[in-house]
Amino acid sequence: MDFFNHVQGRLMAEQTDVAQLAEQFGTPLFIYSRATLERHYHAYANAMPNRDLMICYAVKANSNIAVLNLLARLGAGFDIVSGGELERVLLAGASPSRIVFSGVGKTESEIERALQIGIHCFNVESPSELHQIAAIAERLNTQAPISIRVNPNVDPKTHPYISTGLKQNKFGIKMTDAPDLYRFAHQHQHLNPLGIDCHIGSQLTDDGPLLDALDILIDQIDTLASEGISLKHVDLGGGLGVPYIDEQPPSPAQFMARVDERLGDRNVSLVLEPGRSIAANAGILVTKLLHLKQGEDRKFAIIDAAMNDLLRPALYQAEQKVVPVVEQDRDTYTADLVGPICETGDFIAKGRTINTAVGEFLAIRSSGAYGFTMSSNYNSRPRAAELMIDGDKAYVIRQRESLSDLVRGESLLP
Ligand SMILES: *Cc1c(COP(=O)(O)O)cnc(C)c1O
Repeated sequence: MDFFNHVQGRLMAEQTDVAQLAEQFGTPLFIYSRATLERHYHAYANAMPNRDLMICYAVKANSNIAVLNLLARLGAGFDIVSGGELERVLLAGASPSRIVFSGVGKTESEIERALQIGIHCFNVESPSELHQIAAIAERLNTQAPISIRVNPNVDPKTHPYISTGLKQNKFGIKMTDAPDLYRFAHQHQHLNPLGIDCHIGSQLTDDGPLLDALDILIDQIDTLASEGISLKHVDLGGGLGVPYIDEQPPSPAQFMARVDERLGDRNVSLVLEPGRSIAANAGILVTKLLHLKQGEDRKFAIIDAAMNDLLRPALYQAEQKVVPVVEQDRDTYTADLVGPICETGDFIAKGRTINTAVGEFLAIRSSGAYGFTMSSNYNSRPRAAELMIDGDKAYVIRQRESLSDLVRGESLLP
C-alpha cells in the first residue's frame, strides 16, 4: 500500500498535488512519499516480536541521504555494497554497528574503513576475500566480524539479470567450501564468524525459493553447531517482490512468520536486506508528454523521461504502471512511451492505452527503487530532481543537475 492516489481526478502524493509539483520543479521528477517508506519499513520491523531482528535496508535501491536518514531515524540498519554507500549511510546518521557489507569486489581501503568504524559484519563472497579481510584485521590489530555468503543454488524464478543464487552466478561461495572457511575463521584470532547469509535474487513473487535457501542455511548452522561453531545470525538477503502491475508477492509478515517457524528454537537472530520492497512503491517518476508521432505501424508518445532516468524497462524488460497525473475525460489511444535518447532500447512502456495530450503529465509508478540510483548522464542529460513529500510539504532532497554539473571534473587539453 502506498500514498499516491487520485483524488477527484488529480494524483496526490500524500496531501500534495503532483501536477503542481511538476509545474513548480519541472520534469522528469522523482517524488517519494515519507509515509510510504516508513510504512514499508515498519511492515518488516514489527513482524517478528519474539526474535532479534535487524532490517538492513539495501542502500543500492535508493541511496538518497534523506531516504537513508529517515530510515536510520526509525532504527534501520543498512546493507552496503561499496565504500561510497558506506560514506552515504554514515552521513545519514546510521549506526556503524547496524551495517552489513556485501559485494564480490570489496577493495583493501573499503575493508579497512569498514573495520575502523566497526561495522556489524562483512558478508564474505570468496575464499580470497576472507583471507584478505583476515590479513587487514591482523594489520589493524582488530577482529573482523564475518558471515559467509553462500550460494545455495536455488532458482528464484525471476528475470535472469536479477537471479543471484544460482551456481552459474558470480555471487556467494559454493556450499561445499563453506564448512572449511568457517573452521578457518573460527580458529583465526582476527576473524569472528558471526553469521551466514545468502541473497538469491530480486523481485521474488513467491517465497518458496527463499525458504528453500533458508533450509540449506539452517542445515549449515546445525552442522557447525555440532562442531562447536555457533553462529549468531542468519541473513536471508533481500528480494521480496512488489506489485508493479498485478503481482501478488507475500507480505513481509507472511514471509517472516514462515522463516520464524523454520528457525524454531535455535538461538539465532534474523537479518534481512530488503531494498525494492521498501522503496519501489514509495516513489513515482513524473514526466511530460512532448510529442505524439504516428509511425508506420504504431504510435509513439515521446516523453521527457528516458532510459537514463529509469533504466529498468530497457535493462530487464520491466513493466511499471503509467497513470495520468490529471485524469481527463476524452478518447484513448495506444502508444509506446519512449524517451528522447538515441537508442531503440529507450522505452519506458510499450503498447499502453492512455489519453494524455501533449504538454500534460504522466506518472510512472513504482519508481522509488532502482530508479534514480541507476540513472546516468547518457546523451548528456542532467539527472532529474528528487523530492520527498511529507504530508502537505515537499522537500527538494536532490536538486536537478545543471548543465555545468554535466562537465564537472572535465578539462580541455592545454
Ligand atoms: C540488491 C541486494 C539486496 C536488495 O534486494 P531487493 O530485491 O531490492 O530487496 C539485498 N542484498 C544484497 C546482497 C543485494 O545485492
